[in-house]
Amino acid sequence: MKQTKTPKVFSLGKECPMCGQKAYLRMTEEEENQWRKYACFGGHIQDRFPDMDVQKREFIKSGYCPDCQKALFGTEYDRSDFIIVDDIEDGEVPEDVKKFLEAAEKMNVKDVIKSETANILTTEHKVVMLSEFDLEDIFYVDDDGNIKDR
Ligand SMILES: [Zn+2]
Repeated sequence: MKQTKTPKVFSLGKECPMCGQKAYLRMTEEEENQWRKYACFGGHIQDRFPDMDVQKREFIKSGYCPDCQKALFGTEYDRSDFIIVDDIEDGEVPEDVKKFLEAAEKMNVKDVIKSETANILTTEHKVVMLSEFDLEDIFYVDDDGNIKDR
């Protein structure tokens, strides 16, 4: 039986209050809905995200990135659902992102993201672009790094 992973369709980007790097937590549709409820109505984070691990909840609540949580609380955990901008940018706008943004200036960003041009982006950059351009209502990045319609 082939196990299909639930796609991550939404990413919550936060700037870490300790180190200032921007991190994105990728979420499933269910988690996105939980997050929207939490963002609107507040409440206890453990009630809003009953199935989520402690480190992700901490990120949602306080914005501490995985690295700082490790430093603060000694927690070591799976970073696979996180994208940390420092990991991928190293302080500079990467070439692929630059090229993509140049193309986006000439075309509608929605068209660029669905065009061949978007193929120059890494999976991480695609996720960041969708988040930054507020396109996550329409598109998501699947496990193979393809941009799909939601
Ligand atoms: Zn940090």
